[in-house]
Amino acid sequence: MCGIFGITGTRDASRLAYVGLFTLQHRGQESAGIVTDDGSRLLQHTGMGLVNEVFNNEALQRLEGTSAIGHIRYSTAGSSHITNAQPLVLNSSLGLVAVAHNGNLTNADEVKARLQKAGAIFQSSSDSEVILHLAARYRGRTLEETLAKNLTKLTGAYSFLFMAPGKVIGARDPYGYRPLVLGRLGRSYILASETCAIEVAGGEVVREIEPGEMVAISGGKLKSLRFAKPKKFTRCIFEQVYFARPDSVVAGRTVHKVRYEIGAMLARELRGIKADIVSGVPDSGTVYALGFSKESGIPYQGVFMRNHYTGRSFIQPDQRLREFTAHLKLSPIRDVIKGKTILIIDDSIVRGTTSRKIVSNLKKAGAGKVIMASASPPIISPCYFGIDIPTKRELIASRLSVERVRRYIGADGLHYLTLPSLIDVCGNRSDRDFCVSCFSGKYNAGEAPRAGAGAGRMGL
Ligand code: SF4
Repeated sequence: MCGIFGITGTRDASRLAYVGLFTLQHRGQESAGIVTDDGSRLLQHTGMGLVNEVFNNEALQRLEGTSAIGHIRYSTAGSSHITNAQPLVLNSSLGLVAVAHNGNLTNADEVKARLQKAGAIFQSSSDSEVILHLAARYRGRTLEETLAKNLTKLTGAYSFLFMAPGKVIGARDPYGYRPLVLGRLGRSYILASETCAIEVAGGEVVREIEPGEMVAISGGKLKSLRFAKPKKFTRCIFEQVYFARPDSVVAGRTVHKVRYEIGAMLARELRGIKADIVSGVPDSGTVYALGFSKESGIPYQGVFMRNHYTGRSFIQPDQRLREFTAHLKLSPIRDVIKGKTILIIDDSIVRGTTSRKIVSNLKKAGAGKVIMASASPPIISPCYFGIDIPTKRELIASRLSVERVRRYIGADGLHYLTLPSLIDVCGNRSDRDFCVSCFSGKYNAGEAPRAGAGAGRMGL
């Protein structure tokens, strides 16, 4: 999970890119970066941390130019280093080209090994650099043609932004795993991971970039071309469940509304369940709980105070620190909890350790009974497409039955939303195609990495 934002044709390019990235901050907190084009040079500023920690007024002033692309990166195990901060800039036989990537390339290790054998020297351990080296080696007449030719050599998930002097290009993989949206702000074009970033930057949303589509913006004009035949649309369903901001629109529907309806659907699936109050694990669980409450008539109450100020020093990939962070962020409100049967909803249950902590905190705070409900089905398989869902072994639902998960987390009841219900709520009449591989264990042919070729390594 990462966020990307690009804007063309405005004197405020770096500042608007800052606004866009700031709005997408929920998609990644490890590093941030912006590259601008001043007509002949690409100017770059990247750093570790949150957007407002990486950029100050001076840094934005130095980023001159009328176009900008930016990136925020999600923290993943073993790869937290400034050399992996994006956008990456490569000066090669192709000239200066920058790239910002959201997704994970499932054949990156193989392609990289072949390129290294042929003499390519990589400056980062990020899979995103692969496309720049491919493009430098296998050229077409224009940058668009070069990229189109090489993107088809990649498997996995990608929404890319590229920048060369005078040009910004966006491209989305043929399955459309990761999002990419087009917007306009006066005469400027915007490309962003989510609609909320376009709107907060003052623009209007135009449409999604289609799977297998590339758009090239140059001299104030936008050209669209197909670099690959679109395959079955398999956008990540987790965007609606967890990743996207509630005010974004995904698959034609506002995320907040979808989550509210998921809560109501969960209530229909659990019709007749007895609880004194329903609550959500903040922040994403709250909307689900409100939807559940409306449908079931069980009153909603907040049971945790969330501390939003823990900062990046606590966003760590290490398991022990992750557990500590969960405790630090959520503190129970005892008077609301004492003696009650609480139905608590979380967006998902991954390793089970967070749910266990939540149940134990509620019980220590005096809860009579705690029933845990997940707004998504059991996660039984890893994600190879850019979401930090760990290896199969670490996924509790891949090893244990629902009853054994319940016992592990210490709850008095445990319920998961069913997959057909999730798909039903997330889709609309014309758009029901989602990636659900982490729930089903089935992947599009040739898209999961071959055993030993980077399987289980999560990317951006
Ligand atoms: S495997 Fe799961 S998390 Fe990954 S892209 Fe598919 S739905 Fe999203």
